[in-house]
This record gives sequence, structure tokens and C-alpha cells, in this order.
Amino acid sequence: MGHKSDIKLIVDGKRTDGRTVDQCREVTMEVNVIPAADGSAKVGFGSTVALASVYGPRELFPRFMQESDTGILRTRYNMAPFSVDDRKKPGQDRRSQEISKVMKHALEPVLFLQEFPKVTVDAFAEVIQADGSTRVTGINAVSLALVAAGIPMSHMVTAVSVGKADGELVTDLNGKEDNFGEADMGFAMVHDTGEVTLLQMDGELTLDEIKKLLDMAQTACGQILEKQKKALRDFYVKRGE
Ligand code: ADP
Repeated sequence: MGHKSDIKLIVDGKRTDGRTVDQCREVTMEVNVIPAADGSAKVGFGSTVALASVYGPRELFPRFMQESDTGILRTRYNMAPFSVDDRKKPGQDRRSQEISKVMKHALEPVLFLQEFPKVTVDAFAEVIQADGSTRVTGINAVSLALVAAGIPMSHMVTAVSVGKADGELVTDLNGKEDNFGEADMGFAMVHDTGEVTLLQMDGELTLDEIKKLLDMAQTACGQILEKQKKALRDFYVKRGE
């Protein structure tokens, strides 16, 4: 989160990519793009693109990691070395470990893991292009991939970022807004029930701004959920043809 930069992020109500303050970038979603996975999805928010693949439920090895009364969800978030302009150092770092963990917590509440003792569901989110808001893009992709894998779920999880740039509250931060804006918030929820499963904030906001951002995030999640459902419908319609 950079502060006090000379970069103008909003001019005449328009953002660096031409959007209005509460507009998401173009959202693209496709399921079952990786044949070897039990379920997979590709999700793009503008030029941020994440691929998700899910394997399982499958037996968990080593055995000592098994839980006798429940299954477990394992998640791994990774940014590909080619996902940013300067090649990113390959491999896991502290940031990716933290994001993997919050991704697990964001998705676990909708899974019926207690019905699958001793097994694991493994979910991978690979960011192939990074331009801001990669964790929420990854969560949307994994949520779709879990459905595509046929993992029993109570609901879909939907995620978005909101924040503040040039003094304005904005939805779906791009890389510049993420880097040079005043604040960003990662948010995930079950839109049908109102349950919030991820809330992270970086930067400075007033309580009133936070309340407004939560409203904006909920509205955006409603729109994104429709796209998730459409991606699933499109896949099953195409398969049925
Ligand atoms: P998120 O991607 O979920 O918003 P961050 O706030 O940590 O998470 O990252 C913001 C943005 O900064 C990313 O979307 C990406 O565009 C960029 N970024 C993150 N890590 C790196 C890195 N190692 N090298 C280059 N750019 C990065």
C-alpha cells in the first residue's frame, strides 16, 4: 500500500482504466479448463487472471495428518513467476503462505467436510496474470472449481476487493490502485446468507467509509455470484449438447 504518490488514480470520476468508482473490471469465468483436475476454473477480473484446480475428496497421506472425525481442505495460492512484469521469484513466500491460509478459511465454512472423515480436498489457485486483487480472484476461482469437482457445498463463496483511491471509495482495485491507493480491503461472503468469510484491510479508513465499503462489496458480490452461476450453467449446457 503506497501513500502520497503523484499518480492520479481518478480524473473526472473515471479511474485509470476508465471505470466508474463502483464498477468491476470485465469479469470472465470458465469452468473445467484443466482436464486432469476433478474440478477447475479460470477467472479473470480485467488483466488479473487466476486458474484454480481441485482434487478430491481423496485419501490423505501421510496418515498422521488424517482427522478421524472430519475431512480437511488444503489450499495453495501461488503467483506464477511470469504473472508480473518483473519476473517474480518462484516458490512460496510469506505472502503466499498467508493468502493460502485465508483462502482456506474463506472457503471451509461452505464445505461439509465432517461427512468425509480422513480425506482431503486439495485446492490450488495459480495466478497467471497479476494486476491487483489476486487473492479474491483466486477465491472466486477455487469456489467455482469446488462446485465443478462435485464437492458437497452449502453455497458458493464470492469475493471482491474494495478500497479507497484518490479519496474515493472504489470497487475491484487494479494493480495501480492497490499500490498507490489509500486503502484496500479483501472481502469474501456467502451472498445468499450474508455470512462473511474473509475481511482484510490495509491502509487507513474511517468507520463510516468501512461501512460504505462493506455495502459496495456486498453489491459487487451479488453481481459476481451471477457470473459464477452463469459459468456453471454454460458448462453444463454445452456438455449436454
Ligand atoms: P492482492 O493481489 O490480493 O490484492 P496484495 O495486496 O498483496 O494482494 O498485492 C497487490 C498486487 O501487487 C498484486 O495483485 C500484484 O499485482 C502485485 N504484487 C504482489 N506481489 C508481487 C510481486 N512479488 N511482484 C510484483 N508484483 C506483486
